[in-house]
Amino acid sequence: MLINLTELFSVEGKVKHYICELEFSEFRVPEGTYAVVEKTPVNLDITNKGNKVFSVTGSVDVSLEMPCSRCLDPVKVDFHLEIDDEIDMKQTDKERMEALDEQFYVNGYNLDVDQMVRNELTLSLPMKVLCDEDCKGICNRCGTNLNRGTCDCDTRSLDPRMSVIQDIFKQLKEV
Ligand SMILES: [Zn+2]
Ligand SMILES: [Zn+2]
Repeated sequence: MLINLTELFSVEGKVKHYICELEFSEFRVPEGTYAVVEKTPVNLDITNKGNKVFSVTGSVDVSLEMPCSRCLDPVKVDFHLEIDDEIDMKQTDKERMEALDEQFYVNGYNLDVDQMVRNELTLSLPMKVLCDEDCKGICNRCGTNLNRGTCDCDTRSLDPRMSVIQDIFKQLKEV
C-alpha cells in the first residue's frame, strides 16, 4: 500500500493514523524465498514535524515459513516488527539512497508501506532456523531426514566416538 504524504503537508504537528494491509505474500532475499503464512495489518502513525520532516512509528506481526537450517523442513518463524523512522522530504531520492544501504521506501511523495516492512524484516532475519533444538538433520550421504528415520549409510569414519571404540577392539585383539 502507498501512502501519499502530501495529505499531511498542510498542518504541522498533524498526526494521522493508518491501518494498512500488507500486499506481499512472499519475502524474497538472496538466500531464498519465504512464504508469508500469517500477518496482521500494519498500524502506523505518521506525524508532520514541520520543515518537511515526518516521523513514522508503528508495528506489525508477520510469520514466515523458513526451512530448518539442519533438515530443511518448513518452520513457522514469527516476527514482531517495530517501526520508528524519520523521513526528511527535503532530501532528494538520490540523497536518501546514498544515506542508506537498504532499499528506500519513499518515492516522490509516496510512502511504500510494503517496502518499509520488507526492510525491517531483512534486518530481523535469524542467522539460523531450527525446527527443534535437537533436530538431527539429514544424512549427508543419502539425504534421509534423521528425525523421521534411520539409514544404512556407513558414517563410521565421520564419527570420532566410533573410531575410539574400534581402537579399543584392536587393542583387545593384540593382547
Ligand atoms: Zn530440522
Ligand atoms: Zn544415509
